[in-house]
Amino acid sequence: MEVLTLSTYWSELTTSLEPYVPGEQPKDRTYIKLNTNENPYPPSPKALEAIREAAGADLRLYPDPSCDALRETIAAYYGFAKEQVFVGNGSDEILAFAFPAFFSANRKILFPDITYSFYPVYAQLYGIPYETVPTDEQFRIDPKTYAVENGGVILPNPNAPTARFLLVNGIKEILEANKEQVVIVDEAYIDFGGESVAPLIAEYPNLLVVQTLSKSRSLAGLRVGMALGHPDLIEGLNRIKNSFNSYTLDRLALAGAVAAIEDRDYFEETNRKVVATRDRTTAALRELGFEVIDSLANFVFVTHPQKEARELFALLKERGILVRYFNKPRIDRYLRVSIGTDEEMDALLDVLRDIS
Ligand code: PMP
Repeated sequence: MEVLTLSTYWSELTTSLEPYVPGEQPKDRTYIKLNTNENPYPPSPKALEAIREAAGADLRLYPDPSCDALRETIAAYYGFAKEQVFVGNGSDEILAFAFPAFFSANRKILFPDITYSFYPVYAQLYGIPYETVPTDEQFRIDPKTYAVENGGVILPNPNAPTARFLLVNGIKEILEANKEQVVIVDEAYIDFGGESVAPLIAEYPNLLVVQTLSKSRSLAGLRVGMALGHPDLIEGLNRIKNSFNSYTLDRLALAGAVAAIEDRDYFEETNRKVVATRDRTTAALRELGFEVIDSLANFVFVTHPQKEARELFALLKERGILVRYFNKPRIDRYLRVSIGTDEEMDALLDVLRDIS
């Protein structure tokens, strides 16, 4: 008798899908963890207090499916209306809704050849064809290359993992060339010195700006992301979200996110620290002979003309420091290093000095 294995029941898509491989989350907490762009500082104490309070209150009850209090807080903070704000369980979930909401199987979407590796996974999952747009040898994005026939555009700004940043005018050029399609700007790393294009949503009804509380508000573990855009785009996201009843934010996330957004002083203070450490680390790495792409994110993308990135990755790991190495064409000469505390970056620099 034929023995049926589980994979016998999988669809063609399931077997051909190449799922996203997230950065390592080691159980061993002794590592200096510079591999997944988390913030080295704890979340706002006010956010933690709000989460504790919410845990002691109404967990018996379902959360607000429309997340009104959080959307109002975000709208007030950025000077928009609640109808221009969407929230999700991390920006990854918002992107998972945005692909089927705005892109279709009929036309190719565009994103940079070197970029966040989730985009091709979502495209594959939803049967959306895509074309990657070449970056130059230094991973720079040229807005002109996005003025071609397409069914939508998505790009992170700053880009990941390269840290390359486009000024507002560059994004405007892409928007001007693509007025009939949705353009998604993924601003996961915008709060570390870049200028957001969120104010442009009033001018461009096809612009969706996606941000997260995972990086600049130290809440990767709470899973909260937000999108800003024309009410019609927000409505599109809601239609997808409401087709999966399980997808609202939980009560702890809603309470913590409101308090984190409201605690502007803490946010600005921790971001200032991360930026100062990044700039100091960039200078020190250059002194050690590394080429470092100028970064406005909470990570740096670095290469050494004489040393193999894969070997450096392994040596650092042996010495208790985890960074990110991508075994992919063009970027396999590079390491992506998240910005930790000053002490953590000093430990990294000490090891690199030692093995130089
Ligand atoms: N976009 C980019 C460019 C990212 O690097 C990340 C983090 N890996 C995300 C989105 C998702 O972040 P989160 O789901 O934690 O909001």
